[in-house]
Parts: sequence; C-alpha cells; structure tokens
Amino acid sequence: MMNLTPTLQDCELLDAQDPLRDLRDQFDLPPGVIYLDGNSLGVLPKTAPARVAHAVTHEWGTDLIKSWNTAGWFTLPQRVGDKIARVIGAQPGEVVAADSTSINLFKVLAAALHIAQADHPHKTKIVSERSNFPTDLYIAEALCKERGYTLQLVEADEIAAALQADVAVLMLTHVNYRTGAMHNMQAVTAQAHAQGIITVWDLAHSAGAVPVDLNGSGADFAVGCGYKYLNGGPGAPAFVWVHPQHTDRFWQPLAGWWGHAAPFAFTPDYQPAAGITRYQCGTQPILSLTALDCGLDAFLAAEALGGMTALRQKSLALTGLFMQLVRTRLHGHGFGIATPTQEDERGSQVSLTRAEGAYAIVQALIARGVIGDFRAGDGGQHPDILRFGFTPLYVGYADVWQAAEHLHQVMQSGEWQDARFAQKNAVT
Ligand SMILES: *Cc1c(COP(=O)(O)O)cnc(C)c1O
Repeated sequence: MMNLTPTLQDCELLDAQDPLRDLRDQFDLPPGVIYLDGNSLGVLPKTAPARVAHAVTHEWGTDLIKSWNTAGWFTLPQRVGDKIARVIGAQPGEVVAADSTSINLFKVLAAALHIAQADHPHKTKIVSERSNFPTDLYIAEALCKERGYTLQLVEADEIAAALQADVAVLMLTHVNYRTGAMHNMQAVTAQAHAQGIITVWDLAHSAGAVPVDLNGSGADFAVGCGYKYLNGGPGAPAFVWVHPQHTDRFWQPLAGWWGHAAPFAFTPDYQPAAGITRYQCGTQPILSLTALDCGLDAFLAAEALGGMTALRQKSLALTGLFMQLVRTRLHGHGFGIATPTQEDERGSQVSLTRAEGAYAIVQALIARGVIGDFRAGDGGQHPDILRFGFTPLYVGYADVWQAAEHLHQVMQSGEWQDARFAQKNAVT
C-alpha cells in the first residue's frame, strides 16, 4: 500500500484490524463529524456528563461543604496529577493538576530562574523558539522584564548553537503547535545540561499524544494542557511537573494557601508544602477537575492494550496515512506538508501549507463536518497552516481517508472560494 493511493476499503480493513478501535466507544462523538481538532479541544468522555452531574447535584447540592473531605475534593488535584504522571513518565506524587498552562509556566520559569540565580549568578538569558506558542513567549518576556533577564528567540535549527554559558533556562514546547515537529527531549536536555542550563518543557501537544519520559529524559520542569489530548473539557486545569531534585528548593512565586504545608492552620506566615503540592496556588475548580479525571480514565483503559506505546504506533500510522493521501489523492492542489515525515520527529498532527486560502479551506471543511483548524503565519518564514490533529483514542483510518476526500472535493469544486468562508471569527 505504500506507493499506491490507499482506498477507503483499505482503510476500513485497517479499522477492523485495529486492536485499539473499541477505545473510541468511551467518547461521545457527534454523528457526521470527523474530528481532527483533539489537539485543541478533546472530545467528551461518555462518563463525564454523569460524573460532573453527580458532583454538582450530590456532592455540591446535597453534601455541600462536607464534600471537601467526603468526596475527596481536597486531594483531587493530586489524584488527577497521579493519573497524568502515568502518561508523561513521572512518578506518583510528582504532578499536580492545577491552574492554566500559562500560569504554571510562570511558576516553573520563576523557579528555574531562581535556581539558576543561586547556582550560576552570571547567567542572563532564557532561550526559546520564535515559533513557540505565543503565551509561552509572553510569560517568559514578562518574567525577563521583572527579573532582569533577556529572552533570546531562535529557530529550531539554531537551538544547539544558542546553548551558551550565559543561558540560564531553555524553554521549549516539545511538539510545535504549528508544525507538529517534535524535539528529542533527552538529547536536547543533555546538551542544555552540559552548559549548566535548566530545561522547561511545555507538553501541551505531547501529553496523551506521544510517549513522554520526563524522568528518563532528565528534564527539569514541565507543564501541559488538560483540554487538548487529555480530553478534560473546555478550560480544564493544566498540570505541572517538577523534577524531585528541584521541588523543595524554591517557593514558587504564587505562594497561595493551597501550596502551604498546613493550609487549615491559618498561620500568617507561609510554609511551603513538601513536594509538588507547593505548586498549587488557591482553591481549584473541582467540577473541571472532575471532567478531566474522566478524560484520564480513557488513558487508563488504554493501558491494558499497550498504553502510550500502542497509541503512538496508531498515531504514526494515521499521520503517515494522511501525508500519503496528501501526496497522492491531493496532488496538484498546491498543498505543502510542514510536518516532518521522519517518524521520530513529529507529534500526532499533520500541518499543511498553501500559498493562499488556508483559512477559507479550513472553514469549507468544517462546513462539511471535517473539523481541523487554521493557524496564522507571520507572512514570512512561518506560513499559514491548516492543522489536523489525529487522536488515536478515537480517530480511525477511514476517518483519515474521508477527511482527505473532503479536502479533495473542497479544492476540486472550488467551494472554498465562497465568500462565507472568508469571514473570520474571534477564535480560529
Ligand atoms: C494550547 C497551549 C497553551 C495554552 O495555554 P493556556 O494557559 O491553557 O491558555 C500554552 N502553550 C502551548 C504550547 C499550547 O499549545
């Protein structure tokens, strides 16, 4: 099948033989939709409506404040964190689910700068990628201003050369949100450590998408998103991981009472809790954490079928299939592939480029029920992107084929040029 254009029948056969295919039954997928945006907002786990309704009507409605103890609300950030730890190569007790990715990034970057300041006071820089997700760059820029550091932005192929002795922190997103290009966490971390540089990894497009081994990679700090591949629902809490050797060295700067060693002692002075708990700030969103917990149960169900390793195998097959269809079925429509074809260099998405019309083409696809998204370029080195996320928990091979077929029809018919598809919404 490698050189021929795969047929729908080929793909249906792959689905029939897919050992992971029943995992899809854990999710409520709307009929007639091919959902290729699980990298932006994952789908609804079937258990979530009842679990959240129970938390609302019973735990909140009936048991009221007792539920902090009786329903385990108080420890939910740790318990959800322990489930996340299983998919990112961390140990129980090393991860907490809390706040947003942006906020957690602020905490860990501040911690990393503090440690750098103590160990290497001459260092003056944070290095990151110019095409990193903007919030990561904004948070780093703000902290640099506050702490007197400089943010140096480079392209991916310039990172190694940028790891000089004056660099305190290397802050990278493991899988690039635009292109899907994936860094080798272990190799980059080793290069950074050789120069005494602390690494901060954003796992927004990695957690639940690709196998991550934080401890095995020797990473220092990591944050990530709950509402993308982890299927935690809109605005789901994010997570934070800190290597145990660093956790107790620093008070993170948002030292709220939930990070206190004894929050209900109500002492006027701050005593940080031991371990990752100190990375909590204030009261956490219990209803959202409950929904995220349901999303993580889907990964626990996948463990019996080979877990992240098996999911990765399927993810690579899905993204590989889509790229093959772009090269064959979609040949002549002007698409480029921005995602690395090399398997160990990509995450679980495929990003296409086109000289014009990327936004309108994505809108025309959405009108047909094929949901991907558009990511604007900068008019220069980074072009506009049509982005398709392939979530192996619930996307099948026939879905990939149908998506490519719809894209072919959108181009062949010229329907993407309809004026209604040029209308930009607030969220793209
Ligand atoms: C999605 C994403 C975020 C989102 O941050 P929020 O605080 O949840 O809005 C941050 N960083 C990266 C790399 C992302 O892909």
